[in-house]
Amino acid sequence: MNLDFSLSTPSSSSNSDTSQVRDLIIIGSGPAGLSAALYAARANLNPLVITGNEIGGQIGTTSEVENYPGFTGETGPELVEVFQAQAERFGAETKFDWIQSVDLSQRPFRLTGGDGDYYARSLIIATGASFRKLQVPGESEFTGRGVSYCATCDGFFFRDKEIVMVGGGDSALEEAIFLTKFAKKVTIIHRRDELRAGFALENRARKNEKIEFIWDTVVTKINGDDKVTSIELRNVKTGESWTHRTDGVFIAIGHIPNSDLFKGQLDIDDEGYLITDKYLRTQMEGVWAAGEITDSVFRQAITSAGMGAATAIAAERWLSEQEDEPARETIAA
Ligand code: FAD
Ligand code: NAP
Repeated sequence: MNLDFSLSTPSSSSNSDTSQVRDLIIIGSGPAGLSAALYAARANLNPLVITGNEIGGQIGTTSEVENYPGFTGETGPELVEVFQAQAERFGAETKFDWIQSVDLSQRPFRLTGGDGDYYARSLIIATGASFRKLQVPGESEFTGRGVSYCATCDGFFFRDKEIVMVGGGDSALEEAIFLTKFAKKVTIIHRRDELRAGFALENRARKNEKIEFIWDTVVTKINGDDKVTSIELRNVKTGESWTHRTDGVFIAIGHIPNSDLFKGQLDIDDEGYLITDKYLRTQMEGVWAAGEITDSVFRQAITSAGMGAATAIAAERWLSEQEDEPARETIAA
């Protein structure tokens, strides 16, 4: 099996005129977006998926996927390839673009991306979530020079090095275990004395001889010259501070939902998640949200994919109930 862990390269299947009014546009190409695309394509809606800056979302950045039912491959990028191919086989189009603004006050809805305006009678928002940052001095400065948020992408550069992983969730542990394929030693730094990660990953990490833990500790600064050389640490219980030498700092401290686009147009909770009802409807008729953009609890590929499928079914039903203008008219230039 080809274990190329680089991020999935986006490829567009759409050459279409962006001014065409679509029955359905899906923003985001993670498990939620691509599953919505599959269901919508099979319902003959000819959906357009606007991918974002990569294809596959978060799952495309991981090295091992062991809990997606029926998936017998190994890596996140492999799973994404299957998602995309299956959706496109039934007529979904993928377009590599980033949506910069949306106008939900008019119908069809208008989305503005780098390549122009897109128009849609209905919309599935599957914009997921992005890496949370530590927000300590040195973090931005050394990103790409020893600071990384993606072990799958950058682990290879740390062969025989000593590195740290910040975080105590499933991502931090899974990524730390992956990094032991390359690094001499991986030290997990967690701000509490108890992990958030599930038992299976905790067990594997604790058994791994290359992994050590530093508990109750936060990173306060990242130091370096042309690349990272050390970090400043502080024990939150004792107040003790010290310098820890390291060649790299991997950060996996959770994610922030990508909902800024919809501020002022849709209801958003205090943590930034889009608020939906039990049918995944937003407050705007004809607009649904699926996956981690609206889910602060389950946050799995399979649950996001399930929500994507559900919203596509809902969109198909809603569209078929509409008896307004023909589906695919073109906006006058
Ligand atoms: P995301 O995957 O976040 O995708 C969002 C998409 O929206 C992206 O394509 C993004 O580019 C796009 N987007 C955002 N804003 C815009 C915009 N303005 N314009 C256009 N596009 C936009 N789950 C599991 O079940 N099993 C695992 O083994 C597993 N491992 C993981 C490992 C890691 C390192 C991480 C970080 C997560 C892991 N997860 C795992 C969780 C899983 O990846 C997520 O739950 C899932 O990817 C969420 O899917 P989503 O489609 O809702 O959002
Ligand atoms: P998460 O579960 O939210 O965990 C984030 C971790 O980072 C927590 O341990 C948290 O500490 C810590 N943290 C948060 N902010 C911090 C800060 N400012 N400084 C230091 N530490 C900080 O996020 P995740 O690990 O990315 O997981 C997200 C979702 O994806 C979860 O639902 C998870 O189950 C899923 N996932 C699943 C798999 C798998 O099934 N194999 C793999 C990866 C991810 P506290 O614990 O103190 O809050």
